[in-house]
Amino acid sequence: MSEAGEMNDVVTMDKIVSLCRRRGFVFPSSEIYGGLGSSYDYGHYGVLAKNNVKARWLEAMTQERDDIVALDSTIILHPRVWEASGHVQSFSDPLVDCRNCKKRFRADDLEHCECGKKPSKHPGEGPDCDLTEPRQFNLMFETTIGPVQESGSKVFLRPETAQGIFINFKNVLQIARRKPPFGIAQIGKSFRNEITPGNFLFRTREFEQMEMEFFVPPDESEQWYRYWLEQRMDWYHRYGLRDSHLRLRQHSEDELSHYSSGTADVEYLFPIGWSELEGIANRGDYDLSRHTEFSGTKLEYVGQDGERYVPHVIEPSAGADRSLLAFLADAYDEEEVAGRERTVLRFHPQIAPVKAAVLPLIGKNEDMVSKARSLYEELRRRFVVEFDDSGAIGRRYRRQDEIGTPWAATIDDQTLEDDTVTIRDRDSLAQIRIDISKVGTYIAEALVAPWKTPKSE
Ligand code: ATP
Repeated sequence: MSEAGEMNDVVTMDKIVSLCRRRGFVFPSSEIYGGLGSSYDYGHYGVLAKNNVKARWLEAMTQERDDIVALDSTIILHPRVWEASGHVQSFSDPLVDCRNCKKRFRADDLEHCECGKKPSKHPGEGPDCDLTEPRQFNLMFETTIGPVQESGSKVFLRPETAQGIFINFKNVLQIARRKPPFGIAQIGKSFRNEITPGNFLFRTREFEQMEMEFFVPPDESEQWYRYWLEQRMDWYHRYGLRDSHLRLRQHSEDELSHYSSGTADVEYLFPIGWSELEGIANRGDYDLSRHTEFSGTKLEYVGQDGERYVPHVIEPSAGADRSLLAFLADAYDEEEVAGRERTVLRFHPQIAPVKAAVLPLIGKNEDMVSKARSLYEELRRRFVVEFDDSGAIGRRYRRQDEIGTPWAATIDDQTLEDDTVTIRDRDSLAQIRIDISKVGTYIAEALVAPWKTPKSE
């Protein structure tokens, strides 16, 4: 990444936060009670955009190929699951307290933390900083099942969706009649009591993951690991993330978990710098072997010819919220058009929350409004579209630009004469005229056409 490339990008985290707020993508949670710090509620456009991210992921996993099936496991699992997975013992981060400012920090990430008294300094750098020795802090949220806390059993909110997949391995193998190589994909909420959440949707305590476990014969694991690195990078490219802002970073030997023979992070150049978007790991037979040991149920593949082995697992594990943040950051743009500033989200059309806006040029003209209404009624059966007849047309366009709507169909005087409408392109601002009866087909075709962001690399 060139320095110039970084500097040319107008986006900052503050601008994304403010646009998300202004246009109702994301609100701070529990705001009327003073907020809950690093917790966010998704509003209408945020829900639509995040659903698109998740739908594209699930489509790529389960619809465009036939070797992966879907799963939706519970958030609260049997507590032994987390003993087997190693989370009870070691899903922790090193925590330090400052005896002076009373703030808590992740000991392994002090360079990204701010001193509680002097935000220009990192913890430990100020003259009054008084940090404790690091101690391990388990990130799992605990709760109790049963009406009486004392006699109920302690359970955890899942810190990842993956374990729900491993414990269903046998069901899928037998009932869905699968044979390695095959995968199980799941999207759902995960919970981590992060010591230092922050950077908007990047790190929160409650978030959604998109995880897939791909079970393979042991001698094919390396080849499938490489295969999934490529597939996942392709997926982000396909939905528009710029090449210059995306990279793969292989973990070094000392970063690897003891059971992993290879792990790489897909990293995105967020406004906070290069950071993990997704982790892809070759986990060997660790997970299935541990659950076999702890549950007493053999999790292995037995072929008809008596062949028997514990499959190895390749795991691409992505965050839905973090991905949406990357799509937002990549899409955010500002430019001057005819002497006026415009802010535009240049989303890939399949990620954009609204596909088209239908706008009568003059909101008070009944004929235009009624034609626009009937076009809107027709289109909404197929796509997420909006109708807007209030205010000046320029302002209506800008509102759609800010939520990233790729096309606007405008009904004007000429429409009343010859039933043609203009289609305005969000990125090029080019306007073409087409027959009103062709708008649906136009959008359907444009949605599946190859797309590349007009933002500079
Ligand atoms: P990090 O190093 O950022 O804490 P991790 O390596 O612990 O992440 P994984 O356990 O590999 O993360 O989780 C897979 C994915 O889940 C991450 O790449 C990220 O997209 C998402 N994710 C993890 N923790 C959070 C969080 N607190 N908030 C939002 N997304 C998260």
